[in-house]
Amino acid sequence: MTPSPPETPHAPGTRYRPDAAAPEPSPEDLLARAGGVLRPALGLYLDIHADPELSGQEARTADRFARGLASAGCEVVRGVGGHGVVGVLRNGGGPHVWLRAELDALPVRERTGLPYASTSEAMHACGHDLHLAAAVGATELLARLTDRWRGTLVVVGQPAEETLTGAEAMLRDGLYERFGRPGAVLAQHAAPLPSGTVAHAVGGVPAAAASAMLDVVLHGTGGHAAAPHLAVDPVVTAAAAVMRLQTVVARETAPQDQVSVTVGTLRAGTAANVIPDSAALGIGVRATDEASLDRALCAVHRVLAAESAASGALREPSVTVTSRSASLRCDPAVTYAVMRAHSGLLGAARVLPWPGSMAAEDFGLFGDAGASVHGLRGIPLCYWMLGVVDPGVWDRAATGDRGSLPAPNHSPHFAPHLGSALRPAVAALTAAALDRFAGPRVAEGRPGARADGGSGRTGPDDAS
Ligand SMILES: [Zn+2]
Ligand SMILES: [Zn+2]
Repeated sequence: MTPSPPETPHAPGTRYRPDAAAPEPSPEDLLARAGGVLRPALGLYLDIHADPELSGQEARTADRFARGLASAGCEVVRGVGGHGVVGVLRNGGGPHVWLRAELDALPVRERTGLPYASTSEAMHACGHDLHLAAAVGATELLARLTDRWRGTLVVVGQPAEETLTGAEAMLRDGLYERFGRPGAVLAQHAAPLPSGTVAHAVGGVPAAAASAMLDVVLHGTGGHAAAPHLAVDPVVTAAAAVMRLQTVVARETAPQDQVSVTVGTLRAGTAANVIPDSAALGIGVRATDEASLDRALCAVHRVLAAESAASGALREPSVTVTSRSASLRCDPAVTYAVMRAHSGLLGAARVLPWPGSMAAEDFGLFGDAGASVHGLRGIPLCYWMLGVVDPGVWDRAATGDRGSLPAPNHSPHFAPHLGSALRPAVAALTAAALDRFAGPRVAEGRPGARADGGSGRTGPDDAS
Protein backbone atom coordinates (compact mmCIF):
# COMPACT_ATOMS: atom_id res chain seq x y z
CA MET A 1 0.00 0.00 0.00
CA THR A 2 1.40 3.40 -0.96
CA PRO A 3 -1.06 6.11 -0.12
CA SER A 4 -0.54 9.58 -1.47
CA PRO A 5 -1.91 12.73 0.10
CA PRO A 6 -5.41 13.76 -0.90
CA GLU A 7 -6.34 17.01 -2.50
CA THR A 8 -8.52 18.04 0.39
CA PRO A 9 -8.60 21.16 2.48
CA HIS A 10 -5.93 19.43 4.56
CA ALA A 11 -3.50 18.67 1.75
CA PRO A 12 0.02 20.08 2.03
CA GLY A 13 -0.12 23.72 1.14
CA THR A 14 -3.06 24.43 3.40
CA ARG A 15 -3.09 24.89 7.13
CA TYR A 16 -4.61 22.21 9.30
CA ARG A 17 -7.34 23.93 11.26
CA PRO A 18 -9.85 21.78 13.10
CA ASP A 19 -13.29 23.30 12.84
CA ALA A 20 -14.25 24.91 16.13
CA ALA A 21 -17.87 24.14 15.34
CA ALA A 22 -17.21 20.39 14.98
CA PRO A 23 -19.19 18.08 17.26
CA GLU A 24 -17.71 17.34 20.64
CA PRO A 25 -16.08 13.94 20.96
CA SER A 26 -18.41 11.29 22.29
CA PRO A 27 -18.95 11.22 26.02
CA GLU A 28 -17.50 7.72 25.97
CA ASP A 29 -14.21 9.43 25.17
CA LEU A 30 -12.40 6.52 23.66
CA LEU A 31 -9.42 8.76 23.05
CA ALA A 32 -8.94 9.11 26.80
CA ARG A 33 -9.53 5.42 27.40
CA ALA A 34 -7.03 4.56 24.65
CA GLY A 35 -4.41 6.18 26.85
CA GLY A 36 -4.69 3.20 29.15
CA VAL A 37 -3.51 0.75 26.50
CA LEU A 38 -0.83 2.86 24.85
CA ARG A 39 2.09 1.50 26.81
CA PRO A 40 1.84 -2.13 25.58
CA ALA A 41 0.87 -0.92 22.10
CA LEU A 42 3.91 1.34 21.97
CA GLY A 43 6.16 -1.45 23.22
CA LEU A 44 4.89 -3.71 20.46
CA TYR A 45 5.41 -0.97 17.88
CA LEU A 46 9.01 -0.34 18.92
CA ASP A 47 9.84 -4.06 18.93
CA ILE A 48 8.34 -4.65 15.51
CA HIS A 49 9.75 -1.47 14.00
CA ALA A 50 13.28 -2.28 15.08
CA ASP A 51 13.07 -5.85 13.78
CA PRO A 52 11.17 -5.79 10.47
CA GLU A 53 10.66 -8.84 8.27
CA LEU A 54 9.93 -9.01 4.56
CA SER A 55 6.77 -10.38 2.96
CA GLY A 56 6.38 -14.08 3.62
CA GLN A 57 9.14 -14.13 6.25
CA GLU A 58 7.22 -12.57 9.16
CA ALA A 59 7.87 -15.29 11.77
CA ARG A 60 9.06 -13.06 14.63
CA THR A 61 6.54 -10.33 13.85
CA ALA A 62 3.72 -12.88 13.84
CA ASP A 63 4.92 -14.24 17.18
CA ARG A 64 4.98 -10.77 18.77
CA PHE A 65 1.54 -9.94 17.40
CA ALA A 66 0.14 -13.29 18.56
CA ARG A 67 1.49 -12.74 22.05
CA GLY A 68 -0.03 -9.25 22.13
CA LEU A 69 -3.43 -10.64 21.18
CA ALA A 70 -3.14 -13.45 23.71
CA SER A 71 -2.31 -11.02 26.51
CA ALA A 72 -5.44 -9.06 25.56
CA GLY A 73 -7.44 -12.22 26.17
CA CYS A 74 -7.75 -13.66 22.65
CA GLU A 75 -7.61 -17.30 21.69
CA VAL A 76 -4.86 -17.22 19.07
CA VAL A 77 -4.26 -19.43 16.05
CA ARG A 78 -0.98 -19.13 14.19
CA GLY A 79 0.24 -20.28 10.82
CA VAL A 80 -2.86 -19.40 8.80
CA GLY A 81 -1.85 -19.00 5.16
CA GLY A 82 1.84 -18.77 6.03
CA HIS A 83 2.66 -16.61 9.02
CA GLY A 84 -0.92 -15.36 9.38
CA VAL A 85 -2.27 -14.91 12.91
CA VAL A 86 -5.92 -14.92 14.01
CA GLY A 87 -7.05 -13.85 17.47
CA VAL A 88 -10.61 -14.44 18.66
CA LEU A 89 -12.23 -12.62 21.58
CA ARG A 90 -15.72 -13.92 22.42
CA ASN A 91 -18.18 -11.84 24.36
CA GLY A 92 -21.54 -13.53 24.05
CA GLY A 93 -23.92 -13.68 21.12
CA GLY A 94 -23.82 -10.88 18.58
CA PRO A 95 -22.09 -9.64 15.45
CA HIS A 96 -18.76 -10.95 14.27
CA VAL A 97 -16.52 -7.95 13.71
CA TRP A 98 -13.11 -8.45 12.14
CA LEU A 99 -10.04 -6.22 12.26
CA ARG A 100 -7.14 -6.70 9.88
CA ALA A 101 -3.54 -5.49 10.08
CA GLU A 102 -0.46 -6.41 8.04
CA LEU A 103 2.71 -8.10 9.26
CA ASP A 104 5.23 -7.37 6.53
CA ALA A 105 7.90 -4.75 5.93
CA LEU A 106 9.67 -3.53 2.79
CA PRO A 107 13.15 -4.06 1.36
CA VAL A 108 14.14 -0.49 2.20
CA ARG A 109 17.21 0.61 4.20
CA GLU A 110 15.89 2.91 6.94
CA ARG A 111 17.37 6.41 7.08
CA THR A 112 15.20 8.07 9.71
CA GLY A 113 17.95 8.22 12.31
CA LEU A 114 15.40 7.31 14.98
CA PRO A 115 16.71 5.54 18.09
CA TYR A 116 14.47 2.57 17.32
CA ALA A 117 15.33 2.48 13.60
CA SER A 118 15.84 -0.81 11.84
CA THR A 119 19.46 -1.68 11.24
CA SER A 120 18.73 -4.43 8.70
CA GLU A 121 17.98 -4.16 5.00
CA ALA A 122 14.24 -4.20 5.77
CA MET A 123 12.08 -1.38 7.08
CA HIS A 124 8.51 -0.76 8.15
CA ALA A 125 8.23 2.06 5.64
CA CYS A 126 4.48 1.65 5.13
CA GLY A 127 3.25 1.87 8.72
CA HIS A 128 2.24 -1.78 9.09
CA ASP A 129 3.95 -1.78 12.48
CA LEU A 130 1.60 1.02 13.54
CA HIS A 131 -1.40 -0.93 12.23
CA LEU A 132 -0.35 -3.97 14.29
CA ALA A 133 0.18 -1.92 17.43
CA ALA A 134 -3.19 -0.20 16.96
CA ALA A 135 -4.93 -3.54 16.42
CA VAL A 136 -3.51 -4.96 19.62
CA GLY A 137 -4.33 -1.72 21.45
CA ALA A 138 -7.90 -1.77 20.15
CA THR A 139 -8.26 -5.42 21.14
CA GLU A 140 -7.02 -4.64 24.64
CA LEU A 141 -9.39 -1.68 24.86
CA LEU A 142 -12.37 -3.73 23.65
CA ALA A 143 -11.45 -6.41 26.19
CA ARG A 144 -11.75 -3.74 28.89
CA LEU A 145 -15.08 -2.54 27.52
CA THR A 146 -16.94 -5.84 27.31
CA ASP A 147 -19.95 -4.28 29.00
CA ARG A 148 -20.32 -2.09 25.92
CA TRP A 149 -20.58 -4.73 23.21
CA ARG A 150 -21.71 -8.27 22.53
CA GLY A 151 -20.39 -10.57 19.86
CA THR A 152 -17.11 -11.95 18.62
CA LEU A 153 -14.04 -9.91 17.77
CA VAL A 154 -11.69 -11.51 15.25
CA VAL A 155 -8.29 -9.87 14.75
CA VAL A 156 -6.20 -10.86 11.73
CA GLY A 157 -2.46 -10.36 11.30
CA GLN A 158 -2.01 -10.80 7.58
CA PRO A 159 1.35 -11.66 6.02
CA ALA A 160 2.63 -10.55 2.62
CA GLU A 161 0.48 -7.51 1.88
CA GLU A 162 3.22 -5.71 0.00
CA THR A 163 3.39 -8.58 -2.48
CA LEU A 164 -0.42 -8.70 -2.60
CA THR A 165 -0.40 -12.42 -1.88
CA GLY A 166 -1.08 -12.77 1.86
CA ALA A 167 -4.83 -12.19 1.96
CA GLU A 168 -5.42 -14.84 -0.68
CA ALA A 169 -3.13 -17.27 1.14
CA MET A 170 -5.08 -16.86 4.38
CA LEU A 171 -8.44 -17.17 2.64
CA ARG A 172 -7.28 -20.27 0.74
CA ASP A 173 -6.23 -21.72 4.08
CA GLY A 174 -9.89 -21.70 5.10
CA LEU A 175 -9.98 -18.43 7.02
CA TYR A 176 -13.76 -18.06 6.84
CA GLU A 177 -14.50 -21.77 7.22
CA ARG A 178 -12.39 -21.89 10.37
CA PHE A 179 -13.32 -18.58 12.00
CA GLY A 180 -16.80 -17.89 10.65
CA ARG A 181 -18.31 -15.40 8.29
CA PRO A 182 -17.47 -11.80 9.22
CA GLY A 183 -20.27 -9.31 9.77
CA ALA A 184 -17.78 -6.64 8.65
CA VAL A 185 -14.03 -6.41 8.12
CA LEU A 186 -12.30 -3.18 9.15
CA ALA A 187 -8.80 -1.92 8.41
CA GLN A 188 -6.90 1.34 8.50
CA HIS A 189 -3.74 2.50 6.75
CA ALA A 190 -1.14 5.10 7.66
CA ALA A 191 -1.22 8.06 5.28
CA PRO A 192 0.42 11.49 4.91
CA LEU A 193 -2.30 13.36 6.80
CA PRO A 194 -2.13 15.12 10.16
CA SER A 195 -2.39 12.83 13.18
CA GLY A 196 -5.89 12.80 14.57
CA THR A 197 -7.48 12.82 11.13
CA VAL A 198 -8.91 9.94 9.13
CA ALA A 199 -9.99 9.89 5.48
CA HIS A 200 -12.65 7.67 3.94
CA ALA A 201 -13.24 6.90 0.27
CA VAL A 202 -16.83 7.84 -0.51
CA GLY A 203 -18.94 8.57 -3.57
CA GLY A 204 -17.87 5.54 -5.57
CA VAL A 205 -14.16 6.29 -5.21
CA PRO A 206 -12.11 3.12 -4.78
CA ALA A 207 -10.07 3.12 -1.59
CA ALA A 208 -7.22 1.46 -3.47
CA ALA A 209 -6.43 0.85 -7.12
CA ALA A 210 -6.51 -2.31 -9.21
CA SER A 211 -2.94 -3.49 -9.59
CA ALA A 212 -0.72 -6.02 -11.29
CA MET A 213 2.96 -6.72 -10.76
CA LEU A 214 5.05 -8.21 -13.54
CA ASP A 215 8.44 -9.91 -13.59
CA VAL A 216 9.87 -9.52 -17.09
CA VAL A 217 12.96 -11.01 -18.70
CA LEU A 218 14.15 -9.45 -21.95
CA HIS A 219 16.29 -11.94 -23.80
CA GLY A 220 19.39 -10.95 -25.73
CA THR A 221 22.50 -12.67 -26.94
CA GLY A 222 25.52 -12.17 -24.74
CA GLY A 223 28.95 -11.29 -26.04
CA HIS A 224 32.06 -9.12 -25.82
CA ALA A 225 31.65 -5.42 -25.17
CA ALA A 226 34.01 -4.75 -28.05
CA ALA A 227 31.93 -6.76 -30.53
CA PRO A 228 28.35 -5.53 -30.13
CA HIS A 229 27.58 -6.49 -33.74
CA LEU A 230 27.89 -10.15 -32.73
CA ALA A 231 25.47 -9.79 -29.82
CA VAL A 232 21.92 -8.63 -29.11
CA ASP A 233 22.28 -6.23 -26.21
CA PRO A 234 19.36 -6.61 -23.75
CA VAL A 235 20.50 -3.52 -21.83
CA VAL A 236 19.66 -1.38 -24.85
CA THR A 237 16.39 -3.25 -25.30
CA ALA A 238 15.52 -2.62 -21.66
CA ALA A 239 16.41 1.07 -21.89
CA ALA A 240 14.21 1.50 -24.95
CA ALA A 241 11.39 -0.46 -23.34
CA VAL A 242 11.50 1.62 -20.15
CA MET A 243 11.24 4.83 -22.14
CA ARG A 244 8.51 3.53 -24.45
CA LEU A 245 6.50 2.25 -21.47
CA GLN A 246 6.11 5.84 -20.31
CA THR A 247 3.84 6.43 -23.29
CA VAL A 248 1.33 3.83 -22.09
CA VAL A 249 0.07 6.46 -19.66
CA ALA A 250 1.11 9.64 -21.47
CA ARG A 251 -0.15 8.71 -24.97
CA GLU A 252 -2.52 5.75 -24.65
CA THR A 253 -4.54 6.55 -21.52
CA ALA A 254 -7.40 9.02 -21.63
CA PRO A 255 -6.50 12.06 -19.53
CA GLN A 256 -9.54 11.53 -17.32
CA ASP A 257 -8.48 7.95 -16.50
CA GLN A 258 -6.05 7.21 -13.71
CA VAL A 259 -3.36 4.71 -14.64
CA SER A 260 0.24 4.36 -13.54
CA VAL A 261 3.05 2.24 -15.01
CA THR A 262 6.28 2.11 -13.04
CA VAL A 263 9.42 0.12 -13.73
CA GLY A 264 10.55 -0.37 -10.14
CA THR A 265 13.51 -2.66 -10.79
CA LEU A 266 15.91 -2.99 -13.72
CA ARG A 267 18.79 -5.41 -13.50
CA ALA A 268 21.28 -6.53 -16.12
CA GLY A 269 24.90 -7.46 -16.50
CA THR A 270 27.83 -8.43 -14.35
CA ALA A 271 30.76 -6.47 -15.82
CA ALA A 272 31.37 -3.43 -17.99
CA ASN A 273 33.17 -5.47 -20.65
CA VAL A 274 30.43 -8.09 -21.03
CA ILE A 275 27.17 -7.81 -22.93
CA PRO A 276 24.74 -9.85 -20.83
CA ASP A 277 22.32 -12.48 -22.03
CA SER A 278 19.25 -10.93 -20.48
CA ALA A 279 17.81 -8.00 -18.57
CA ALA A 280 15.16 -8.27 -15.85
CA LEU A 281 12.47 -5.68 -15.14
CA GLY A 282 9.96 -5.46 -12.32
CA ILE A 283 6.91 -3.51 -13.47
CA GLY A 284 3.91 -2.30 -11.50
CA VAL A 285 0.73 -1.35 -13.34
CA ARG A 286 -2.20 0.29 -11.54
CA ALA A 287 -5.56 1.72 -12.49
CA THR A 288 -8.75 2.74 -10.75
CA ASP A 289 -10.76 0.01 -12.47
CA GLU A 290 -10.13 -3.40 -13.93
CA ALA A 291 -10.93 -2.44 -17.56
CA SER A 292 -8.30 0.31 -17.53
CA LEU A 293 -5.84 -2.08 -15.90
CA ASP A 294 -6.46 -4.66 -18.65
CA ARG A 295 -5.91 -2.04 -21.36
CA ALA A 296 -2.66 -0.89 -19.78
CA LEU A 297 -1.42 -4.47 -19.36
CA CYS A 298 -2.09 -5.19 -23.04
CA ALA A 299 -0.09 -2.10 -23.97
CA VAL A 300 2.79 -3.10 -21.69
CA HIS A 301 2.94 -6.57 -23.27
CA ARG A 302 2.89 -5.02 -26.73
CA VAL A 303 5.70 -2.57 -25.99
CA LEU A 304 7.91 -5.26 -24.46
CA ALA A 305 7.40 -7.60 -27.41
CA ALA A 306 7.89 -4.85 -29.97
CA GLU A 307 11.07 -3.49 -28.42
CA SER A 308 12.49 -7.00 -28.24
CA ALA A 309 11.66 -7.55 -31.90
CA ALA A 310 13.13 -4.18 -32.82
CA SER A 311 16.37 -5.19 -31.12
CA GLY A 312 16.55 -8.41 -33.11
CA ALA A 313 16.09 -10.63 -30.08
CA LEU A 314 15.77 -14.29 -30.92
CA ARG A 315 13.20 -14.91 -28.18
CA GLU A 316 10.14 -13.04 -27.09
CA PRO A 317 10.21 -11.59 -23.58
CA SER A 318 9.19 -13.79 -20.65
CA VAL A 319 6.44 -12.07 -18.68
CA THR A 320 5.16 -13.44 -15.35
CA VAL A 321 2.28 -11.81 -13.50
CA THR A 322 3.42 -12.24 -9.89
CA SER A 323 0.33 -10.71 -8.34
CA ARG A 324 -2.90 -9.07 -9.31
CA SER A 325 -5.43 -7.36 -7.10
CA ALA A 326 -8.78 -5.77 -7.76
CA SER A 327 -9.61 -2.22 -6.80
CA LEU A 328 -10.80 -1.88 -3.22
CA ARG A 329 -14.48 -0.97 -2.94
CA CYS A 330 -15.76 -0.35 0.56
CA ASP A 331 -19.36 -0.81 1.60
CA PRO A 332 -20.97 2.66 1.37
CA ALA A 333 -23.42 2.24 4.25
CA VAL A 334 -20.86 0.82 6.63
CA THR A 335 -18.39 3.51 5.56
CA TYR A 336 -20.87 6.29 6.34
CA ALA A 337 -21.67 4.70 9.68
CA VAL A 338 -17.99 4.41 10.61
CA MET A 339 -17.42 7.98 9.43
CA ARG A 340 -20.12 9.06 11.82
CA ALA A 341 -18.44 7.13 14.63
CA HIS A 342 -15.13 8.75 13.72
CA SER A 343 -16.75 12.19 13.69
CA GLY A 344 -18.01 11.55 17.20
CA LEU A 345 -14.53 10.47 18.24
CA LEU A 346 -12.31 13.01 16.49
CA GLY A 347 -14.67 15.83 15.47
CA ALA A 348 -16.27 16.11 12.05
CA ALA A 349 -13.53 18.40 10.71
CA ARG A 350 -11.01 15.63 11.21
CA VAL A 351 -12.96 13.11 9.12
CA LEU A 352 -11.96 13.79 5.51
CA PRO A 353 -12.92 12.49 2.10
CA TRP A 354 -10.20 10.34 0.51
CA PRO A 355 -9.95 11.12 -3.20
CA GLY A 356 -8.47 7.72 -4.07
CA SER A 357 -4.93 6.98 -5.09
CA MET A 358 -2.90 4.52 -7.12
CA ALA A 359 -2.11 2.58 -3.96
CA ALA A 360 -2.85 -1.13 -4.19
CA GLU A 361 -4.17 -3.42 -1.49
CA ASP A 362 -5.22 -7.04 -1.22
CA PHE A 363 -7.69 -6.19 1.54
CA GLY A 364 -10.47 -6.23 -1.07
CA LEU A 365 -10.14 -10.01 -1.24
CA PHE A 366 -11.81 -10.25 2.17
CA GLY A 367 -14.96 -9.03 0.39
CA ASP A 368 -16.61 -9.65 -2.96
CA ALA A 369 -13.34 -9.33 -4.91
CA GLY A 370 -12.25 -12.56 -3.23
CA ALA A 371 -15.51 -14.44 -3.74
CA SER A 372 -13.86 -16.84 -6.17
CA VAL A 373 -11.45 -17.77 -3.36
CA HIS A 374 -13.68 -17.87 -0.29
CA GLY A 375 -17.06 -18.40 -1.94
CA LEU A 376 -18.95 -15.71 0.02
CA ARG A 377 -20.64 -12.53 -1.17
CA GLY A 378 -21.86 -9.45 0.65
CA ILE A 379 -19.20 -9.23 3.36
CA PRO A 380 -18.93 -5.47 3.93
CA LEU A 381 -15.48 -3.91 4.08
CA CYS A 382 -14.52 -0.58 5.59
CA TYR A 383 -11.03 0.87 5.13
CA TRP A 384 -9.82 4.31 6.00
CA MET A 385 -6.62 6.30 5.80
CA LEU A 386 -5.08 7.29 9.12
CA GLY A 387 -3.12 10.50 9.67
CA VAL A 388 0.37 9.95 11.10
CA VAL A 389 2.06 13.35 10.61
CA ASP A 390 2.80 15.63 13.56
CA PRO A 391 0.21 18.42 13.12
CA GLY A 392 2.89 21.02 13.90
CA VAL A 393 5.11 19.68 11.12
CA TRP A 394 2.10 19.66 8.82
CA ASP A 395 1.44 23.32 9.50
CA ARG A 396 5.08 24.24 8.87
CA ALA A 397 4.92 22.42 5.53
CA ALA A 398 1.75 24.38 4.78
CA THR A 399 3.69 27.63 5.06
CA GLY A 400 5.85 26.57 2.15
CA ASP A 401 8.75 25.09 4.14
CA ARG A 402 9.64 22.28 1.73
CA GLY A 403 12.05 20.86 4.28
CA SER A 404 9.10 20.11 6.53
CA LEU A 405 7.21 18.04 3.97
CA PRO A 406 6.51 14.67 5.58
CA ALA A 407 8.22 11.68 3.99
CA PRO A 408 5.64 9.53 2.21
CA ASN A 409 5.04 5.82 2.71
CA HIS A 410 7.79 3.60 1.26
CA SER A 411 10.38 6.36 1.74
CA PRO A 412 13.50 5.46 3.80
CA HIS A 413 12.63 8.56 5.86
CA PHE A 414 9.01 7.55 6.55
CA ALA A 415 8.34 7.99 10.26
CA PRO A 416 4.86 8.13 11.80
CA HIS A 417 4.77 10.59 14.71
CA LEU A 418 4.00 8.18 17.52
CA GLY A 419 3.30 10.87 20.09
CA SER A 420 0.32 12.13 18.13
CA ALA A 421 -0.65 9.17 15.92
CA LEU A 422 -0.82 6.05 18.07
CA ARG A 423 -3.64 7.07 20.38
CA PRO A 424 -6.05 8.07 17.57
CA ALA A 425 -5.05 4.93 15.68
CA VAL A 426 -6.17 2.76 18.61
CA ALA A 427 -9.29 4.83 19.22
CA ALA A 428 -10.38 5.01 15.56
CA LEU A 429 -10.23 1.25 15.23
CA THR A 430 -12.03 0.73 18.53
CA ALA A 431 -14.76 3.24 17.65
CA ALA A 432 -15.35 1.57 14.30
CA ALA A 433 -15.52 -1.87 15.91
CA LEU A 434 -17.97 -0.67 18.58
CA ASP A 435 -20.11 0.87 15.85
CA ARG A 436 -20.25 -2.44 13.99
CA PHE A 437 -21.02 -4.37 17.17
CA ALA A 438 -23.92 -2.00 17.67
CA GLY A 439 -25.09 -3.02 14.20
CA PRO A 440 -26.88 -1.08 11.49
CA ARG A 441 -29.31 1.57 12.63
CA VAL A 442 -32.11 3.25 10.78
CA ALA A 443 -31.00 6.56 9.30
CA GLU A 444 -27.37 6.04 10.23
CA GLY A 445 -24.75 7.21 7.82
CA ARG A 446 -25.40 9.94 5.30
CA PRO A 447 -28.07 12.30 6.54
CA GLY A 448 -31.44 11.02 5.45
CA ALA A 449 -30.08 7.69 4.23
CA ARG A 450 -30.83 4.28 5.62
CA ALA A 451 -27.68 2.51 6.62
CA ASP A 452 -28.48 -0.71 4.83
CA GLY A 453 -30.57 0.76 2.05
CA GLY A 454 -33.36 -1.37 3.41
CA SER A 455 -31.66 -4.50 2.16
CA GLY A 456 -30.17 -5.59 5.44
CA ARG A 457 -27.08 -6.58 3.44
CA THR A 458 -24.69 -4.67 5.62
CA GLY A 459 -25.95 -6.06 8.89
CA PRO A 460 -23.44 -8.10 10.81
CA ASP A 461 -24.21 -11.74 11.32
CA ASP A 462 -26.06 -12.53 14.45
CA ALA A 463 -24.12 -15.72 14.92
CA SER A 464 -23.13 -16.50 18.44
ZN1 LIG B 1 3.11 -0.32 1.27
ZN1 LIG C 1 0.90 -0.62 3.38
